[in-house]
Parts: sequence; structure tokens; C-alpha cells
Amino acid sequence: MIREEKKFTFRREEMVKKQLEARGINDNRVLEAFRKVPRHLFVNEAFIDKAYIDSPLPIGNNQTISQPYIVAEMTQELELTGEDKVLEIGTGSGYQAAILAEIVEKVYTIERIHPLYIKTRSLFDKLKYHNILTRYSDGTSGYRDEGPFDAIIITAGSPKIPEPLINQLAIGGRLIIPVGSKDTQELIKVYKDESGIHKTNLGKCRFVQLIGEHAWKSPKKT
Ligand code: SAH
Repeated sequence: MIREEKKFTFRREEMVKKQLEARGINDNRVLEAFRKVPRHLFVNEAFIDKAYIDSPLPIGNNQTISQPYIVAEMTQELELTGEDKVLEIGTGSGYQAAILAEIVEKVYTIERIHPLYIKTRSLFDKLKYHNILTRYSDGTSGYRDEGPFDAIIITAGSPKIPEPLINQLAIGGRLIIPVGSKDTQELIKVYKDESGIHKTNLGKCRFVQLIGEHAWKSPKKT
């Protein structure tokens, strides 16, 4: 067991150096979070030996845990200070939420697939991430009672930016979302100030679909 842990610590450090630092991730809080979170506990057991490779991996229910670099890039672009209130849409494996929870005091995360919601909630409890609040619902409507949020991250691809999420973004807040077709998207960063919202395109990306009232329609009830 101890030998196993050492192996994962080593792989995690290699991931930080070769996949993140070498590609320009330079926010120390982000790098420190990646050094801490045990990514191998967030993947299915069948993929435990692949947990630190430069790639997304399946997590069941046709969903994926994102490639480490994209998680890091999105986190860095949120420009977090320790006091930010953060909302994530698309809990999935919980890895992105755990990275956020290492940096800020409180993370709210929403998942629409019940088995993933249940599985990840119990993982957060096991790993003692008591500062992550989970919710089972359609995240395209946001988290009305808890807003406004200083940062909102959507980890699934959408045809447009869901209006309720823009409304729940604080003045001075940042929102990151993949926007485009079902197959390919552009990563869009939104900054909100008194005059309205300002968008920057961070480049191409590929995410699973954001399904809900303000995004893609559900193909069937899940
Ligand atoms: N952040 C996750 C990525 C998971 S993939 C991780 O670190 O592992 C995207 C997730 O978004 C899937 O679990 C999918 O079920 C979820 N999702 C899609 N549409 C959603 C919606 N409207 N509300 C909440 N979650 C949604």
C-alpha cells in the first residue's frame, strides 16, 4: 500500500512538471492543488494505472474526467483568490471540484446524472472535502439561492452560454464555458462588470454535452 502511494505521488509530480508547468500553467495555487489531489481515486478502478496520463478517461454513464491540462487551464483562467465563491456545473468524477476546493473556501457543484452524483458525493466524504456542496439537478439553471458567484465553471459543452448562469455571476466575476457544436467547442471566458459581459476566446476544446433547459435538449430521460 505504501509502495503504491509513492508510485502515485511520483506520477503526480511528473504530471505537474511535464503536462502543466511545461505548457505554461504558472499559478502556484493551481500547481499546488494538482500536487495534492489524488487523481487516481477519481477514476474508475480499471483506469487507475492510467490516471496521470495526458488524456481524458471514461468515468461511466458515457461521461469523462477531463485531461489534466484542460482542468488546470480552466482553473487558472478563473483567476481565483482564496475567498471566491465558486460554482461548477458538471460534477462528474469530482476531480475538478476537488482542485477548486484546495484553492477556495467553498465550492458548489451540480450534477444531472444521479449515479454519478451519489458516487462522487461519497468520495468527497471519504476524502473529507467538507467544503464541497453537491447538488443533483439541471445546472443550466444555476444555483439560485446561493448566488451571486465570483467564478462559474461549466465542464460540459453548450450551444450557448446559459442566461441564468450569467445572471448569477457577480460583478467582477469570471465564467468559463465550452461553447459550440456537439462535437467541438471553443473555450469562452466571460468577465462581468457594471457595463455588462466581455468575452475572450481561449481556443478549441472538446467536451461531453451540457444537457438541460438552457443548453442541449435531453435525448431521453436519464
Ligand atoms: N468536472 C468533471 C467533468 C465531468 S464530464 C470532472 O472533473 O470529472 C461533464 C459532466 O457534466 C457529466 O458528469 C455530465 O453528466 C454533467 N452534466 C451535463 N449536463 C449537465 C447539467 N445540465 N447539469 C449538471 N451536470 C451536467
